Amino acid sequence: MTVAPHFAFKNNVLHAEDVPLTQLAKEHHTPLYVYSRQALRDAWEAYRVAAEGRNVLVCFGMKANSNLAVINEFKKMGSGFDIVSGGELARVLAVGGDPGKVVFSGVGKQVWEMQAALKAGVKCFNVESEAELDRLSQVAADMGQVAPVSLRVNPDVDAHTHPYISTGLKESKFGIPIERAPQVYQHAASLPSLRIEGLDCHIGSQITEAAPYLDALEKLLDLIDQLASQGITIKHLDLGGGIGIRYTNETPVTPKELLDQVFDRLAARKLGHLQIVLEPGRSLVGNAGVLLTEVQYLKHNEAKNFAVVDAAMNDLLRPTLYEAWHDVEPVQPRAGDKQSYDIVGPICESGDWLARDRQLAVEQGDLLAIMSAGAYAFSMASQYNTRPRPAEIMVDGSEVHVIRPRESVDSLFSSEKPLP
Ligand SMILES: *Cc1c(COP(=O)(O)O)cnc(C)c1O
Repeated sequence: MTVAPHFAFKNNVLHAEDVPLTQLAKEHHTPLYVYSRQALRDAWEAYRVAAEGRNVLVCFGMKANSNLAVINEFKKMGSGFDIVSGGELARVLAVGGDPGKVVFSGVGKQVWEMQAALKAGVKCFNVESEAELDRLSQVAADMGQVAPVSLRVNPDVDAHTHPYISTGLKESKFGIPIERAPQVYQHAASLPSLRIEGLDCHIGSQITEAAPYLDALEKLLDLIDQLASQGITIKHLDLGGGIGIRYTNETPVTPKELLDQVFDRLAARKLGHLQIVLEPGRSLVGNAGVLLTEVQYLKHNEAKNFAVVDAAMNDLLRPTLYEAWHDVEPVQPRAGDKQSYDIVGPICESGDWLARDRQLAVEQGDLLAIMSAGAYAFSMASQYNTRPRPAEIMVDGSEVHVIRPRESVDSLFSSEKPLP
C-alpha cells in the first residue's frame, strides 16, 4: 500500500495507473515528475460531491501545481481558480478558464497585475490591507471600472500545522486583523471604484481537522452580522484552502465532512443564502504525483548511511523548507536486510535532503518514488546549481503524455550575455 491509490504495486513494480515506473524512467529518464490523471479526477470528485446541491464555488489554488495540463483538467471539470499573481492569471487565460470564477489572492499585488485582472474580469480581489484597497480603487478608476473586493481577514485561529504554512495567527503577515475589519470595510465602502462582494480567510495549509475552520467560521459569521448592521452586505464567504492530504498516516477531514458542518452552521445562523468559496490546492493534486529518482551512490559514514539520488532540493523543496515528510517507496522492492538511510541530493547544501532515517534495502541504480509530490513540488522547483528542471509526465490509464519536457542545459543560460 502506498499513500496514493493510483500509485500501486503490480508484480512487485510500482505503477502509475497502468504504467510501470521502470518504463517511464527508461524512456524519460530521472528525475521525473509523474502524475495520475485519474487521481486528479478522484480528488475533484470529493469536492464535487461535497458541493452538490449547495451554492459552492471551488477555485483550485493553482500555485500548488500550475501546469497547463493540470489546470485544464480542473477547468473542464468546472473548477475556478485561486490565483496569486499576474503570471497565474495568464495561465488560466491560456487554457480558456472563466475569469468569472477566478479569485485573486496575495499580499503584494502590483499595479500591472491589478490591471490584468480587471481587464480579464475576475470574480473578486481578496484584499489584504488598506493600502491595497486604495491602490486598487485608483487602478480601477483609471480604467473606468469598479473592482469587486473581499477583505481577507485574519481570524486569529491556530490551524495546528507547521508554522511556515500557518497563516491565520495574529503574528502573520497575511490578512487584516478581524477586530479592524469593520473599519476597513467602511473604508472600502467609501471608495468610489470598489464594490464589496465578500469576506475571505485562509488560515493555513495541510490542516487535517475541521475544528480550525469552524472556529474561523464562527468569527466570520459574527463579523458578517456586524457588517450587516453597518449596511454592508456580504454575498460570498471564502474559507480559503488548506485541507490536508495523507503524506504518511494522516486522516484529513474530507471536503464533504467539512461542508456538511459549515452548511449546518450557516443554516443555524440564517445565512443559508451565502455562497461558499473554497480554494483547495494541495488536496486536489498532492497525491496525484510522485517524484521518480535514481540512486547514484550509496555512502556509508560512521554516523549515517546516505543514498545519494539524482533528485534534489531544487526539485522538491518541501523537506528542507518545512521539514516535511514524504514517503519513499523503492520502485522494485528488494528482499534482504534494510538499513537506515538519509535520501540526499547532489546539491552543495547540507539542507539538500529529501527524506531522513528511512529503512530501505537499496542498491546503486535503484529507482525510488518520492510520494505525494503532486503539490508544491514542480511549482516550487528552481534551477539552482544549473540543474535543468525535470520533465512532467501525465499518465492516463496506459497512455503517457509529456506535459512539460525536461529542460535542456543550454536553455538555462541561452539568454545571458557576457559584458562587451
Ligand atoms: C496557498 C493558498 C491556497 C491553497 O492552499 P492549500 O493548502 O494548497 O489548499 C489557497 N488560498 C490561498 C490564499 C493560498 O495562499
